[in-house]
Amino acid sequence: MSKKKFVDIPQTKALARGNWHTIFTAFVAAYDHRLFEKAGRKHGPCPLCGGNDRFQFFKDARDTGGSVCRHCGAKPDGFDLVGQANDWDFIETARQIDALLNGQEVSAPKSVDWEKLRKQQEEATKRQKEKDEFFRSLLKKVWKESYRAEAPEAAPLRRYLANRGLDVHNYPRTLRFHPGLDSVNEDGEFEGTFPVMLALVVDKDGAPVTIHRTYLTEDGRKAPIESPKKLMPYPSDKSASGGAIHLSGTGKVLNVAEGIETALAVQEMVGGSVWATVNASMMKNLQVGEPVEAVWSWGDLDRSGDGQAACKELVERLRKEGKQATACLPTMEIPAGAKSIDWLDVYLKWHDSSVIESLRFIKASQRAAA
Ligand SMILES: [Zn+2]
Repeated sequence: MSKKKFVDIPQTKALARGNWHTIFTAFVAAYDHRLFEKAGRKHGPCPLCGGNDRFQFFKDARDTGGSVCRHCGAKPDGFDLVGQANDWDFIETARQIDALLNGQEVSAPKSVDWEKLRKQQEEATKRQKEKDEFFRSLLKKVWKESYRAEAPEAAPLRRYLANRGLDVHNYPRTLRFHPGLDSVNEDGEFEGTFPVMLALVVDKDGAPVTIHRTYLTEDGRKAPIESPKKLMPYPSDKSASGGAIHLSGTGKVLNVAEGIETALAVQEMVGGSVWATVNASMMKNLQVGEPVEAVWSWGDLDRSGDGQAACKELVERLRKEGKQATACLPTMEIPAGAKSIDWLDVYLKWHDSSVIESLRFIKASQRAAA
């Protein structure tokens, strides 16, 4: 323990800049200077929780001492790492660093019990494996128990799409119906058992990842629960990032919208290939490979601005990747009391001559390019 009682935090912070290698050498028992020298470029074991490649220092670590571990989280500056490595609070951490940099006596760093860490890690890996197996079999079971959208059992799904104003003739193979799935809310409370519209979510390479659920009522409304739309959990070795719900086969021209219903409306308006990205963040990250050459992104107009931003970001990135990309956003004012306008709203409520004219033009140009 340093004898100095008072520590001037801003001064200590200024002093620490550029001195993090010295500080970590003194206070972090499992500090690896090679990772520090390759800050922002090299991953390695975490000095707090071990592993092989879960940890790296931030690019600006020489100034900030910041680092991030996939397992135990981000440490925006070196004070966090030193404090957590020694079980010191912020004041004690600052006091020790201040003492070190002023050449005074400091505490020895707390040693790491690697054997204990290894055991904990093995346990965690085992638990994750069991969880992954459970998710895998649950996804298979739900899909296996489901019906095609044309099946007599799937009437609530067809009623739902009709109630939303959609007139679907060829139901996508990736949309299916489950007669009864349980719903639990975010607090884990059981909300009831409902008929569900299932949609297959695939990853950026087209491999199945998980199932999107829209909870319904028998008469084809959204179920009266907290969140009627949700993704099923999926194994940790899969990633939905860059993926989407493919509502049709994929051609040279691809139409993209956030919601399933919006995407189906776009399909009715212009035809062709359509994917639903589920939400704005997945739209932003969507990966589009062969054989697609041109993408039309049919964004939501959100009061929050999220839908527009995601739509434009996708289009800009695709252009950089050498694809043709066009952002289509509703030009209407968002009505008072509404949070957003999507293309299903446009299709149903604003289907006036100017909209019809634009759609006719888009349809023709997509046909020509396909
Ligand atoms: Zn860690």
